[in-house]
Amino acid sequence: MGSEREAFSFLLVFSLLQWFVDNLVQSVNNFVEILCSKEVLNLEKFSCETHINQALDMFVAETGEFPILDKYNSEDNLSTKCSYCEEDATYIVSRK
Ligand SMILES: [Zn+2]
Repeated sequence: MGSEREAFSFLLVFSLLQWFVDNLVQSVNNFVEILCSKEVLNLEKFSCETHINQALDMFVAETGEFPILDKYNSEDNLSTKCSYCEEDATYIVSRK
């Protein structure tokens, strides 16, 4: 009788654990999905003079949308480099 009860408890704990892991995996998946969609929404490309055509092409290929091209003031944002080389970015390509 006692061992039967133990087996039942084990089964209960096991299925609870499985339920917990399932939920965890689903939460992580949802979180990753949200992160990915946010990344797409905020998609911006930085480019130097040389790579601006490449940046525009890539933007259209990735988003299927018409890109907005702006001058990028690299004096205020020293850390931002071109997405394709080590030059400081002169342009920013984004959707708006
Ligand atoms: Zn470049």
